[in-house]
Amino acid sequence: MPDDALAMDPSAFRAADRLGGIELSEIVRISERAKVLRDQGRDVVALSTGEPDFPTPDFVIEAAHQAALAGETRYTATVGTPALREAIAQEHGRQMAEVIVSTGAKQVLANALMATLNPGDEVILPTPFWTSYADMVVVAGGRPVTVPCPMEAGFKLSPAALEAAITPKTRWLMLNSPSNPSGAIYSAREIAALAEVLERYPQVWVISDEIYAHLSFSPFVSFTAAAPALAPRTLIVSGVSKAWAMTGWRIGWGIGPAPLIKAMVSLQGQSTSGACSVAQAAALAALNGPRDLLRDRCAIFQTRRDKVVAGLNALPGIACPVPDGAFYVFPSCKDALRKGESDGDFCARLLDETDVAVVPGRAFGLSGHFRLSFAYSDDALDAGLARLGDYLNKEA
Ligand code: PMP
Repeated sequence: MPDDALAMDPSAFRAADRLGGIELSEIVRISERAKVLRDQGRDVVALSTGEPDFPTPDFVIEAAHQAALAGETRYTATVGTPALREAIAQEHGRQMAEVIVSTGAKQVLANALMATLNPGDEVILPTPFWTSYADMVVVAGGRPVTVPCPMEAGFKLSPAALEAAITPKTRWLMLNSPSNPSGAIYSAREIAALAEVLERYPQVWVISDEIYAHLSFSPFVSFTAAAPALAPRTLIVSGVSKAWAMTGWRIGWGIGPAPLIKAMVSLQGQSTSGACSVAQAAALAALNGPRDLLRDRCAIFQTRRDKVVAGLNALPGIACPVPDGAFYVFPSCKDALRKGESDGDFCARLLDETDVAVVPGRAFGLSGHFRLSFAYSDDALDAGLARLGDYLNKEA
């Protein structure tokens, strides 16, 4: 049917205007392309997804099983179970009234933006940023204001760049430390310097996404620990997905001032209600369980990081800084691009010609780079590096 015929048909599907600005995530697109190639029988090495290859710990699964058998299978309070909120409050040294549990850290972020943004409100995104941030802001009616933070600046926002981006319409600054995709961690001193600027702009609130806090290879400090004066206008976001390898359980949390949490609970109450009861019991077991497991896994990630950084830096045209946390590297591929080629073209070429899937920097707002996840087995990483090496060395 031609487009104009569709437009005339009153039963034709029309998405809401608020979805107009968002597109299928580039990460999803690459994963789908990798799947098509796999279905054609090709041996694709996907290094494109941010999901630990470890299993959820057995004691967590056992706790979920016992909770289900004990009848924890009903709706919970919208804000989360008292036991889990208490454990989260203790973990972060805060009050229960400051805690909301949601269906993954992603829903915490979406709740916060939907509950606070009015049309035209601005959200500052130090760039590169996790792909979903900008689209979430758009869906909530806001305007993403991207601030380039290049590799030479350690992929971090400077106080001067922050101040230059603030307008009377700014509602939020969204920080992510350790960062997806760059792995950058803000030190206490860097946070304090940003806070000094923010103290002059009381209308600007801070979302500090600390979902990778337990995956730090250098000292990590929470935003409110380094800038306690800003706690009354900061939302800390975290969860069990990454550190405990619990991506599918969908439990994340937000910690912030009680009125903000209350607004987020109202919204959640009319959309998804409380997060899954059994998954909340599992997250409680994770928080109360032994922590040596986190340290052991972090050490494994650090070993992989070192191998991947060294491997990539040995390749012609690739320059890979050392990430301080999370499980990604975000190297520059500027010197490996062919004339007129974008990072998207480059990644498509790598996938087609080497069967290695990585994500172009433009998906994170910063072109000329790609993101490679090292949340994969050593075998996959070795195979991926070897293929990239063979291919790029031939090209050079
Ligand atoms: N924040 C960042 C920076 C992430 O990378 C991710 C997951 N890729 C999330 C939030 C979402 O976490 P969850 O799976 O708990 O929703």
